[in-house]
Amino acid sequence: MFETLKQQPADKILQLMLMYAADPREQKIDLGVGVYKNADGITPVMRAVKAAEKRIWEAETTKTYTGLTGDSAFTNGMISLLLDESVARDTIAAVATTGGTGAVRLGFELIRMMNPKARIWVSDPTWPNHIAILNYLGIEIKPYRYFNAETRGVDFDAMIADLQGAEPGDAVLLHGCCHNPTGANLNLVQWQAVADLLNDRGLLPMIDIAYQGFGDGLEEDAAGTRLIAASVPECLIASSCSKNFGIYRERTGILMAISADSGRQALVQDTMATLNRLAYSFPPDHGARIVSTILNDPDLRADWMAELEEVRLSMLSLRQQLADELRRLTGSDRFAFLAGHRGMFSRLGVSPEIVERLRTDYGVYMVGDSRMNIAGMNSKTVPILAQAIVDAGA
Ligand code: PLP
Repeated sequence: MFETLKQQPADKILQLMLMYAADPREQKIDLGVGVYKNADGITPVMRAVKAAEKRIWEAETTKTYTGLTGDSAFTNGMISLLLDESVARDTIAAVATTGGTGAVRLGFELIRMMNPKARIWVSDPTWPNHIAILNYLGIEIKPYRYFNAETRGVDFDAMIADLQGAEPGDAVLLHGCCHNPTGANLNLVQWQAVADLLNDRGLLPMIDIAYQGFGDGLEEDAAGTRLIAASVPECLIASSCSKNFGIYRERTGILMAISADSGRQALVQDTMATLNRLAYSFPPDHGARIVSTILNDPDLRADWMAELEEVRLSMLSLRQQLADELRRLTGSDRFAFLAGHRGMFSRLGVSPEIVERLRTDYGVYMVGDSRMNIAGMNSKTVPILAQAIVDAGA
């Protein structure tokens, strides 16, 4: 039967990783894969994570199953971190998932379960896996314009105009912060306008937030999510701990669902637990336990926040350095948007030909849509990168 299988499309980012690894040039720069790297090109284990793992190892007496919804110390800790007091706790259902991807998948499945005809509106562009999962699940995708190719900021008027075409029962996928792949984000006035539109048209928001703490700070990055959650009757939120805790391989994420009132919470909670059961039974525990250990211990939490802030500031300073260097080389402000973007990514906004030239002639690897991982550079490679960008004709 295996002969009936069709070759699946290759993952472009993984392909890029292989090409980078095979490139013998010493002066090569990897801006491809979406993983944080420090100035030495290493994705470190955060101090608080190491300390939490030691504590867990010492204290853990059993590896028996947890609950289908995961450990409540984790789900409660994550609810506080993301939503604080913005919505009443007894309206929130939450389950631990296999990373942010697991939460996204489960959220889409829940939407399909509630309304098999629901269409899901996604920003153009978005994280490619959103599209792949929606296609796999057979859910109709409706793109909304998001990125202004001229300014490299959000094309907010176009976004709102497109979302006016959504119908009651549709869902709208929003990036909570640090938009992947563009780096262009909504401001709070725009978030409020989106909330009003969701209410006017009876749309269900689903927020995917995978980079809380990578943009303007832990609280600031949650502001849009909190505003939406507090403004609409129902809301889904998929959150990942991969980046901000640096625990990519532990597969730690959470899906939250906020109901209009506490009466629905139990039903939603039960349904999400069942979806976990149908997919893989119990969600992974180790990463979730690391997160709850950190969030519930004042010293570990303070240390984690301090290290996360170092990570955030280092990316901001690289953004600024690159924008400054490009201003110096071009004598123009054409690349000032790089300092205004937030998160791990920026879309440079150049043609696929220039992306190709950057790779072949200069050893600079970025995704074909010109998404750059800001953490892939360091203060020594920024000038080399800026020169390559200019020389390649950007
Ligand atoms: N959502 C977005 C927008 C992402 O960029 C990512 C990771 O790249 C995820 C979700 C999922 O992250 P993970 O499954 O690694 O936790």
